[in-house]
Amino acid sequence: MDVEFDLIARIRERAGKRDDVLLGIGDDAAILRVPVGHDLVVSTDTLNIGVHFPPETAPSDIGWKAFAVNLSDLAAMGATPAWCTLNLTMPEANAIWLDAFLDGFLALAAQHRVALVGGDTTRGPLSITVTVHGFVPRDAAMRRSGAQVGDDVWVSGTLGDAAAALRQWRDVSVANSILRQRLDRPTPRIGLGVFLRGIANACIDVSDGLLADIGHILDASRVGAELELASLPTSLELANAFDAAMRIALQLGGGDDYELCFTAPPARAHEVLRAGRRSRVAVARIGRVERDPGLRLRDAAGSVSEARRTGYRHFDETCERGDSA
Ligand code: ADP
Ligand code: MG
Repeated sequence: MDVEFDLIARIRERAGKRDDVLLGIGDDAAILRVPVGHDLVVSTDTLNIGVHFPPETAPSDIGWKAFAVNLSDLAAMGATPAWCTLNLTMPEANAIWLDAFLDGFLALAAQHRVALVGGDTTRGPLSITVTVHGFVPRDAAMRRSGAQVGDDVWVSGTLGDAAAALRQWRDVSVANSILRQRLDRPTPRIGLGVFLRGIANACIDVSDGLLADIGHILDASRVGAELELASLPTSLELANAFDAAMRIALQLGGGDDYELCFTAPPARAHEVLRAGRRSRVAVARIGRVERDPGLRLRDAAGSVSEARRTGYRHFDETCERGDSA
């Protein structure tokens, strides 16, 4: 791209600094120093226009979300983020768009003291790939595979808000502003993830819908679970916007929550609650890990049914609004 260097210069000026970045943007590669006694945790995610965010999304919200979804993955591992790279593909070299994008992206980076240390800039349909790097004390990272029979299943925050906003926006082209905020500016649960290290046996971030993501824990851990539908944490805005059946469908199958779902022994419930208080996020106990494989749902009346593990499927749904949506 002819003006690629202008764009990179704009990014470089605002990239943030850290002592462990020995060399940042501007050379062929970055040089980074991992603290002694720690493991490096790396995650990457791509957001494509029309698939992962509606085309009308404000550039600053795209910037926030592109970073938030990556931080959420580190949160699920219990890692403290440190560095990121940004691969930006855009239809034209648009400095105004870039500045607005960076406003959102770097606001969240600053909140977590993450330095932007490199990336790539190319031309094409709008697509953003962020890679984030963080640390955990040696061998302390949480995984999907550690759930134990008898563990409680927990989830942070509230579920279904982002899916509700997307649904409202498709159907009536406006969404409740608090729900819309949950869709556009998710809060990665970094603090909670850090405090859950050594307490939770397994952890995942809820990005594709609760059933799909808890299914990954169950598969990786070779266990099953039963969830209580009455325990799903629900925002007031969601409860007011949809009837109970639709609300539960959004909470189980909708995506984009970016909450943490994790399991921990019942004996450690008070420590889980304390982790929630220390990180200022609500945590709710929603079920129990069982020996029987599969996922069962207990409704408010007490009847139990096998769950269909539907989540957000990138290849059959998009964020384009239309009659078929
Ligand atoms: P090279 O051809 O050696 O890969 P580039 O021109 O692609 O060099 O990049 C020059 C420098 O700018 C590198 O340090 C690269 O990491 C950084 N960079 C390029 N694009 C971005 C971006 N979108 N965000 C952050 N850093 C970037
Ligand atoms: Mg390059």
